Amino acid sequence: MDIIEFTSIMERDGCIGNDKDFCGVYGDIPYSVAFVQGRKGGSVAFYLRIQFADKLPSRMFSYLRQQTKAYVRLQRLNTSKGLFCVLVTTKKIWPFETAYDHLFDEIEAVIDMLGMKIADVCPICRQGDCDSFAFINPVYQKAHAACVHNHNADIQAQVQQNEMTGSYGLGAVGAILGGLVGMIPSVALAVFFDLISGWLCALIPLGAYYGYKLLRGKMSNGALKIIIAVSIIAAPITLYLIELGWSILEGWGGFTLLDYLEYMLIFPEDVLPALLQVLAFIGIGFYLVYKNVSKNNANVWKEASISEAMLRPMADLSEEA
Ligand SMILES: [Zn+2]
Repeated sequence: MDIIEFTSIMERDGCIGNDKDFCGVYGDIPYSVAFVQGRKGGSVAFYLRIQFADKLPSRMFSYLRQQTKAYVRLQRLNTSKGLFCVLVTTKKIWPFETAYDHLFDEIEAVIDMLGMKIADVCPICRQGDCDSFAFINPVYQKAHAACVHNHNADIQAQVQQNEMTGSYGLGAVGAILGGLVGMIPSVALAVFFDLISGWLCALIPLGAYYGYKLLRGKMSNGALKIIIAVSIIAAPITLYLIELGWSILEGWGGFTLLDYLEYMLIFPEDVLPALLQVLAFIGIGFYLVYKNVSKNNANVWKEASISEAMLRPMADLSEEA
């Protein structure tokens, strides 16, 4: 399946959306569908928000797979906070168009069978009697139009505020302080217990990110560059602090960062393996915060605009039973 086929079917079914995300209503079940480009072709992720009593029955995935294995390959099922997401790839002999209709019947049957239902409380005020379908990334769901309007307006006001008063300078100071705090566990463990844990270095970008946010750094494109720069510079500094701690504990006295950098240049083979290891784990930490950092002002603003544009009164979209 490719994106062109996917888009044409979504449009045929009267789904609203743009690019790779579409929202539709099946009976009175709101759902969103996203196209996911993979190496071997496209797959499709379905999102629904469901309500279940305690935790999601684990047999749900196996049951759904059993029921649908003739025409789709179920790749993954994620559930968190009542959000149900199933990622499917259609099989070659079954065109997506046919599989899509079948799959929905099966999903509905499974939800029924396991005594669950589509969430009917507003995700914002947690009250019932919803009047609209709203796209709150990534899922189309029942909500109150007034709540969604206010929610989106609040988000856009915050973005505007950050654009006006957010500062790269203060953000950079925050990132540096946060990065230093993120170094403490790695340095302390190494100096006092002789344990070098790469994983703890992953806390450095996390610290830099939260420091940046805490000091109201401007959440535009520069944020990403500042957090990357601080995280990379933090690598040799972490090693320096560890060596310094060891040296002081052994009674050899201290030395400056400049001394250490000079030593690094003269004897790179002594330092390089450790430096690369620290950088690798900083990379892992960065991967963890990337999703947050990439939620910059422009993206958050756009998401709120899309949500606003996709808001529909429930009466307009529910099909006649
Ligand atoms: Zn509400």
